[in-house]
Amino acid sequence: MEWQFPMTMTIRCYDCGKVFDVVLHNKNPHEYPCPACSKLEVFDLGAWERKAVAWTEKMTKRIRGGGLG
Ligand SMILES: [Zn+2]
Repeated sequence: MEWQFPMTMTIRCYDCGKVFDVVLHNKNPHEYPCPACSKLEVFDLGAWERKAVAWTEKMTKRIRGGGLG
């Protein structure tokens, strides 16, 4: 996947559920403080990318598999 930095990403605080935007400058994991409760959320674009790719592959397989199986 190609990324253009800086890019904005919306993440969710696992502590209070607040959704907020962060600006990414590279693919390295980085800590972002929650604006609501100040808890540090770690966002790892590399890990997120791997998850997104795996999810895409899963969905693609499901569509290709077809049928009602
Ligand atoms: Zn929070």
